[in-house]
Amino acid sequence: MNLLDLFQISIDRYPYRTAIQFGDQKVTFAELNVRANQLAHAFSRLGLCKGDRAAFYLPNSLELVTTYLAFLKLGVITVPINLLYRETEITHIAGDCTPRLLVTGKEQLGVIAPLRDRLNSVEHIVLAEDLPQLAAGETSRAPMLPAGGDDLAVILYTSGTTGRSKGAMLSHDNFVANIAGVTRAWAWRADDQFLLTLPLFHAHGLAVGLHGALATGCTTILHDRFHADAVFDSLLADGITLFFGVPTMYLRLLEEAARRFGVGQRVPMPAMRLFVSGSAPLSAETFNDFKAVFGHEILERYGMTETLMNLSNLYAGPRLPGTVGVPLPGVSARICDSQGQPLPDGEAGEVYLRGSNIFQGYWNDAEKTAQAFHTDAQGRQWFRTGDIGRRDPLTGFYRLEGRARELIISAGFNIYPREVEEVLESHPAVREAAVAGIPDRVRGELPKAYVVLAGDRSVTAEALQEYCGERLASFKVPKVIAFVPLLPRNALGKVQKHRLAATGSD
Ligand code: AMP
Repeated sequence: MNLLDLFQISIDRYPYRTAIQFGDQKVTFAELNVRANQLAHAFSRLGLCKGDRAAFYLPNSLELVTTYLAFLKLGVITVPINLLYRETEITHIAGDCTPRLLVTGKEQLGVIAPLRDRLNSVEHIVLAEDLPQLAAGETSRAPMLPAGGDDLAVILYTSGTTGRSKGAMLSHDNFVANIAGVTRAWAWRADDQFLLTLPLFHAHGLAVGLHGALATGCTTILHDRFHADAVFDSLLADGITLFFGVPTMYLRLLEEAARRFGVGQRVPMPAMRLFVSGSAPLSAETFNDFKAVFGHEILERYGMTETLMNLSNLYAGPRLPGTVGVPLPGVSARICDSQGQPLPDGEAGEVYLRGSNIFQGYWNDAEKTAQAFHTDAQGRQWFRTGDIGRRDPLTGFYRLEGRARELIISAGFNIYPREVEEVLESHPAVREAAVAGIPDRVRGELPKAYVVLAGDRSVTAEALQEYCGERLASFKVPKVIAFVPLLPRNALGKVQKHRLAATGSD
């Protein structure tokens, strides 16, 4: 199924409802559709055809949404580019998937213009500011839908917390399966008021946020990015019922609540229905603090660029802090050993996934694609997530313990960084912590912790080690603790472990 077929249901059903509100601009579903049609004709006039790649390098805006829909209407494969990316990443992406057109903004020209000579495949750079003029006079009739379910809709470059980003090929059917799973699991409603501040260049904002909203026909209040004060105002004033965030956003909202109303004071949100968190682990501390202040249990879910959404805590059932819940409708999960053999409940291993949501492979990289899949004894293909997890024998809920590559092996003992981070973060003086391995002549590796202190709190490294020693096996206690002002994070708030060493002020 073409994604647009799904969005069309909302356009037909709620033509006069506001689809997107961005600052003081509002567009209805019908208007959004007309704008996208006109722009699609304009892009087609520039020579874009089905199967071509076209990129956007833009902050969240109405223009971005219209551009994306126009690309979809032509069967063009969209390449979102992370706005934090600079020369190396942008030229890598453009060289890899050779887009013919790039839509960017005046403010981004400082980054793009100096690279112009190296964007060889790009025939047109179009400014978002010029889109209305470009589309003016074009017919509002919908172009023929050239793409089907198997066709690629987007090449989404992985966020690359470990190395160079790879282009995950996502088909229309992948996105449709993802929408079916999350809208059902989270009881998404046409009368939701959805606050979307996640970047639209990432799967979380684009595939979960924007797609879900357009498919259900609810109104999206779109922000250019997450500003805690603006989000807080919006949550209180705009009758928001649904919000998706990453853990750092929830920490910022707690800080904002304390600043406005005093530490620990309740902040009633009567209209609110659901807060969802993902992309990085949400600590039990934040879950509990948020519940105490806002009266809501954040629903944590697990997804990734290659698979979109996979597992989720329950909307009408338990939300267990520290877990990512159970597979979404249509997704199968198992925990496997290094040979791909399923492990019993309770044992830690790599998370394997199957489902119509799983991507089509990496663009231009048959080798990495082959490595990413495992064929089981029944001939079924499983995607190897590279995440370590375990399934609780009693609840059946899954828990993530870090990336397979981040696993620390000390004298033959496995240390899952997340477990140690959770203990550190439960200490009142610790705001956040990240644990990584450092080389050791005798033990191979030793756990080192990078700790950000909470507010004006202080604690010594020795006291923290003692605290961990009371709660964890001794080999898991960080042997070195560095106090740092903040953790290096990517655009989605995920700690970039490979950059930790550079932050250490030990
Ligand atoms: P990305 O491709 O940028 O969406 O990153 C995907 C990765 O983020 C996953 O493979 C996990 O390592 C991590 N991730 C996503 N959701 C969660 C979560 N709820 N808890 C812990 N890690 C998560």
